[in-house]
Amino acid sequence: MTIESLVSVLSRLPGVGKRSAERLAYFLLSNKDEARLVSSVISEVIDSVRFCSLCGNFTQVDPCSICSDLSRDNTVLCVVEDPRDMTAIEGTGLFKGLYHILMGSINPLEGIGPDKLRIAELQQRVSCGSFTEVLLATNPTVDGEATFLYTSDLLKNSKLRISRLATGIPMGASLEFTDSLTLKKALEQKLYL
Ligand SMILES: [Zn+2]
Repeated sequence: MTIESLVSVLSRLPGVGKRSAERLAYFLLSNKDEARLVSSVISEVIDSVRFCSLCGNFTQVDPCSICSDLSRDNTVLCVVEDPRDMTAIEGTGLFKGLYHILMGSINPLEGIGPDKLRIAELQQRVSCGSFTEVLLATNPTVDGEATFLYTSDLLKNSKLRISRLATGIPMGASLEFTDSLTLKKALEQKLYL
């Protein structure tokens, strides 16, 4: 293995361009203890982490700590695209239900259909579970919207209450610089006081 191969593998990481990969490689080569620590933590974690058989999140124990937490509300299921979305919602401290991670969103151009996502698992989970409400927390993007439409259509004949996240003007933004689609959504979902 050469220094170039280290730069080459580092540049495969998301958000790391060739210049950053070179910087990282030279940092690791000149700080060998740090490099060994990073390398051993990566290999230990990837060997011990798997997917939770219920929500699909990364976990070291199956079911994960959220799915096995009996104090959580097991009547509400929040469906997200990605583990990072789950972390974001969890970070608000406002949602006390359970999660289901789809592991992506529908994108026909990239060949990602519903069969590539954990949608069958979602159907199975809501059909034999204790849930009364499904919160579809997909991203307000083209792919997220396609995923929302597909999953809400799939669940519409069930007895479940289907909800979704409100979309609107982000905090700190001004109306003048808000794009018309966001403003339109905000007007459609206006709140009565
Ligand atoms: Zn879980």
